[in-house]
Amino acid sequence: MLRNILIGIFSAILVVAIGTAAYNVIGAQAQGAVAAPLAGNGNGNSQGNGGAQANLQSATSTQEHAVELAAIPVSELSAEEAAGLLYMIEEEKLARDVYNTLYATWNIPTFQNIAASEQMHMDSVKSLLDRYGLTAPALAPGSFADASLQNLYTALVAQGGQSTADALKVGAAIEELDILDLQTRLAATDNADIQMVYNSLLSGSNNHLKAFVTALQNQTGETYQPQYMTPELYAAALAATQGNGNAGSNGTGQGTGRPEWAGVGRGGQGGGNH
Ligand code: MN
Ligand code: MN
Repeated sequence: MLRNILIGIFSAILVVAIGTAAYNVIGAQAQGAVAAPLAGNGNGNSQGNGGAQANLQSATSTQEHAVELAAIPVSELSAEEAAGLLYMIEEEKLARDVYNTLYATWNIPTFQNIAASEQMHMDSVKSLLDRYGLTAPALAPGSFADASLQNLYTALVAQGGQSTADALKVGAAIEELDILDLQTRLAATDNADIQMVYNSLLSGSNNHLKAFVTALQNQTGETYQPQYMTPELYAAALAATQGNGNAGSNGTGQGTGRPEWAGVGRGGQGGGNH
């Protein structure tokens, strides 16, 4: 009798588990299918659950950058554009290094997932540096050639070490700065290859901003207030994201369609939301 009851319970659990897994797969596929027409091309598949998948998507995105870059002729590089590339790779490094440090402190997966994405952003900018024969200094984590970024790193790590809420706000602040700097650099370049990469990074940053803001809301109940962007630009950045930055245990959704549409795809819902 007891044995039958136990078998019955076990079977019920198994059915629920299988049902949940199937639902997640179907959900991710369905949303990916919806994303394609929104993105204006037929290649907008995206899945946003879990660190491993987020990393794979970033890798795909970087590979697609390489393909896209090869199709764009190298054009003349101004001194301002060159300085912009060298600055942006360090700003992506700042994001990566701060997130890795805060992940080590707080063990919040959002930091680990987004740090992996920042590594891909660095790789994308490096592919531009390589094209133009420029070399960024290879510096250890937490070390920067730019003095302002060095100071910012020190300040943000100290601030983010105070509490999980502070850490998540530091993440959002970095994304705000990244978005603003990318917009400034985009306005200052007419090179199609640089525009392509910067637009891709911009989409990623919008998603990261939303992921940190959502995590802050879910984990502390606090509503993030933008620290660098105007309310209008902040609202526009959040509205630009259709990727699903699930808080808690889920990664950020990133589209893997054409690079200029990266981040446009809708991320799959993580299991934790169901
Ligand atoms: Mn980035
Ligand atoms: Mn970012």
